Amino acid sequence: MKDSFGREISYLRVSVTERCNLNCVYCGKTDCAKKGAELSPEVIGKLVRAFAKCGINKVRVTGGEPLVRSDICEIVKLIRAVDGIKTVSLTTNGVYLKKYAKDLKQAGLDSVNISLDSTDGSTYRHLTGADVLEKVLEGIDEAEKAGLSPIKINAVLMKGVNSDGAGELVNLAKTRNIDVRFIELMPFSDSGIDKSLIVTGNDILTQFPFLRPLGYYEGTAEYYSADGFAGRVGLINPITKKFCSECNRIRLLADGRIKPCLGYEEAYDVMPFIDDEDKLENEIRNIILKKPAGHSFEDGKKHEGLNRTGG
Ligand code: SAM
Repeated sequence: MKDSFGREISYLRVSVTERCNLNCVYCGKTDCAKKGAELSPEVIGKLVRAFAKCGINKVRVTGGEPLVRSDICEIVKLIRAVDGIKTVSLTTNGVYLKKYAKDLKQAGLDSVNISLDSTDGSTYRHLTGADVLEKVLEGIDEAEKAGLSPIKINAVLMKGVNSDGAGELVNLAKTRNIDVRFIELMPFSDSGIDKSLIVTGNDILTQFPFLRPLGYYEGTAEYYSADGFAGRVGLINPITKKFCSECNRIRLLADGRIKPCLGYEEAYDVMPFIDDEDKLENEIRNIILKKPAGHSFEDGKKHEGLNRTGG
């Protein structure tokens, strides 16, 4: 269905947990390892069915860290079985991907995005609080073997923190059939983000002048490549190239609330309607109509971290 600004809302991001096994410096202030809200696979299935009736055809499973849930394959399977859902993808930090890649593929997962901000062990540890880079790299290999496709790496660069590792990340797109996407740092929560840390899409193009535009966007990413590259480099620029007028997303939070926009705190509880399909659908339609025109990151205020909102 269309929202009140005429945007076709077709993409649902489902946060299946607030828990995470990492503690990334830019994500949010809470201790991610603590327990948080989680819906059962059946309830997630019911909600996705109602969303599909409203026109959702693409679902991304996220969190927190979705792979901390031992029933993650069941969740993917239930979502995949919903009429109208054409693709199911998942965003993960990759730490448990080696363990789950094959089963996720079998459960019906199409593709995977893996967050990797550095290929240097000590920088990775500094950013995430955990010494698990090798596990993530093995997870990427396993995802490839399992036939999950496309495989995309998401990287957030911060000046003076991990920006000097950008070349290694670009190199992954050169040597492997992988898309490496640089996401501009967004101002979430109390995590001490200061604007001078942001590495913009233009900074990347200045640093790697050999990247040439492929002339298209896929979702929020503008893609680039270069001679001899097996994969692509994507730039996601929510700060310097606000793409809200093209936004087709809606978010289901781990506690069952629906959040129309990443940039605002407003989220609406639909759990009182969970056992009434028609009311649930109607409520979701009303919430989609409340989606604001665009994010408000430029207001200088704190925003709820992605660890709670679902990245
Ligand atoms: N745990 C999963 C993971 O690490 O991919 C899924 C959740 S995580 C919140 C999803 C994505 O949000 C990650 O790629 C992460 O880099 C991104 N993210 C978190 N905080 C961010 C921020 N302040 N600015 C830009 N991206 C951010």
